Amino acid sequence: MKQTDDITVLKGIGPRKAESLRARGINTLMDLLDWLPRSYEDRRRITPISRLRPGRNALICASVRSRRYSGRPYSRHTPVSFLVEDSTGAAEIVFFNGNYMSNVFHIGETYTFFGKVSENRGRLQMVHPQSCRAGDPADVRAVLPVYPQIPGISQKELRKYQRQLLPMVDSMEEWLPENIVKEYRLAGPAFAIRNIHFPKDRSHVLMSRYRMVFEELLALETGLLFMKKGMVRERGAVIDPSAGEEFINSLPFALTPGQERVWHEIAEDLRSPRAMNRLVQGDVGSGKTAIAEIAMFSAVRSGYQAVMMAPTEILARQHYQSLKKDFERMGCRIGLLCASLKNAEKKQVREQLRDGSIDILVGTHAVIQPDVVFHSLGIVITDEQHRFGVEQRHMLSSKGDNPNVCVMTATPIPRTLAVVLYGELDISVIDTMPASRRPIITKAADNRSRDRVYREVEKELDQGHQAYVVTPLIEDSEQVDARSAQDVYKELYQRFRDYRVGLIYGSLDQAKKEQTMEAFAEGSIDVLVSTVVIEVGINVPNATVMVIENAERFGLAQLHQLRGRVGRGAAQSYCYLVQGSASEISQKRMKILCESSDGFRIAEEDLNLRGPGEIFGTRQHGLPEMRISDIVRHSDILSKAREAAVQILEEDPSLSSRGTAELSRRVRRMFGDDIKLEL
Ligand code: ADP
Ligand code: MG
Repeated sequence: MKQTDDITVLKGIGPRKAESLRARGINTLMDLLDWLPRSYEDRRRITPISRLRPGRNALICASVRSRRYSGRPYSRHTPVSFLVEDSTGAAEIVFFNGNYMSNVFHIGETYTFFGKVSENRGRLQMVHPQSCRAGDPADVRAVLPVYPQIPGISQKELRKYQRQLLPMVDSMEEWLPENIVKEYRLAGPAFAIRNIHFPKDRSHVLMSRYRMVFEELLALETGLLFMKKGMVRERGAVIDPSAGEEFINSLPFALTPGQERVWHEIAEDLRSPRAMNRLVQGDVGSGKTAIAEIAMFSAVRSGYQAVMMAPTEILARQHYQSLKKDFERMGCRIGLLCASLKNAEKKQVREQLRDGSIDILVGTHAVIQPDVVFHSLGIVITDEQHRFGVEQRHMLSSKGDNPNVCVMTATPIPRTLAVVLYGELDISVIDTMPASRRPIITKAADNRSRDRVYREVEKELDQGHQAYVVTPLIEDSEQVDARSAQDVYKELYQRFRDYRVGLIYGSLDQAKKEQTMEAFAEGSIDVLVSTVVIEVGINVPNATVMVIENAERFGLAQLHQLRGRVGRGAAQSYCYLVQGSASEISQKRMKILCESSDGFRIAEEDLNLRGPGEIFGTRQHGLPEMRISDIVRHSDILSKAREAAVQILEEDPSLSSRGTAELSRRVRRMFGDDIKLEL
């Protein structure tokens, strides 16, 4: 029996069962071993009936005294109950599908029953317990695994399959380097797999789980380190950053100290023959775009092309408009590529990229499609990178001549976590704001004060400023009191008769969205009502006030990002957080926003209030799917795994020795075959 064998080699798995298993992605014996229990049943001890406690699971061993139907006997749906007894007392075993169960138990015989104990009219009960004849081979005194449900397959069957794998498991050899096993005190693989399925006791489960989490995180960290190394090792485009000065001098402002420092870090990367691979974090409005422009301009002056990639089409178009202004006066040629362009337009842009007549390309995911070929790509900037996954980053850097890659994000990730998450990237932080920016005055409001809020909005409009009104995205299926974008739009349309009110919502077609967004940007719409489609990056300096309806439905970090859409010009800006329902926790959250404009602090508070799972789901950063570990909950194991990965790669940089073959296989399995392990 080998791990790669098909599941049908096992006893009890015929074509029907195999089909059910395959539907859950279980094809080989290895897949089956990976189907881990979600909990355990402790059936080690028999509990005397007199000591049963309602609400707890228990195993009892009792003989059947009598049978009683509450309805017509032998009918399919008639409940049947059995009175059972041990030497300490009596209890009732209840099944609602009487017809099927009535002949299973014989009066006078002894059975074991395992299930949750309940109480009904003073009598102890077990409803639909698992059962078997006392002394039967299935009547085990052990801790039994409870697996995630697979339709068509019972727990008993799953256990039976897993048990057949144990001889194979027991012959598994240690595949991690000996020093790592020793140093991190890891249980062996045979022990870990056996005990995660069939543990002797709780401490065995803990030891096994530790080993398995460690294994998985080790593969993750090794993969990430590899990607970093792979990118660094290869020669990248060498760019002379001194041209950047020319661009800096053309800006209408001086760089902030934070921008200055980050630009120097980037300049160092550009000058070096190794490809840059850097994450730039900076709060909303800290001036990340300017840094990106300086780097792109340097690339163009050194004879390369540059790409800026944005997560949405609206954002890509807006970047295009503003970069166009900045670059055309410097004599650079700039193009736009996104899905909604006409085919002929796309074709033309692709040709111009290929022959080098476009220096700078702005676009969405469209720019990393295989049919886009560059003449000499030197640098790739991705904006708001939390929307881009590892794979996409990889695909990007595989374009052209191993380009320099710089990802920019306003999502403040606590530094400790960023280091492990983005382990394959160097990190720069813009930690200062342009002095010209006045902090946004933020106020919490509720239904009663809504009218006052909109009077404040009107004051801003009267001064020729513009306003955003943001509503949460509401699914059709949701039965909530939240105000939809359409409702709010109708209301404001009535209210602000002297002003032009526009509406954007998620399902509006792309062209319409863009038309409205552009109208707002050029000032022909005064009040823009929208769902979160404006979340990132949009820049309209004349907008000085934002109202967020049902603010309690947003995350703090998201509210902070939204609010960053105002306060982008010289005038004082305002943000009103209108809560539909103001619970205590919601009050607390709003207070944090009113008091702080520090994105990092806000993110940490959000973490404290909401818990990590909601904010740092793996899907969000495009890390591979984790099977057993959780990068936040297991962050201490994660940093150990990282240490170990560094150590392993120091001793065996290409993972080519026998001792690291299995690790190499696991990294590939996690990241897909295209990860470059041979260097
Ligand atoms: P973000 O980091 O949110 O992407 P942007 O790059 O869009 O921020 O910059 C926000 C605004 O601040 C823009 O209007 C930009 O022109 C301006 N800005 C950037 N850097 C400076 C600076 N050093 N001094 C003054 N204004 C700046
Ligand atoms: Mg930006």
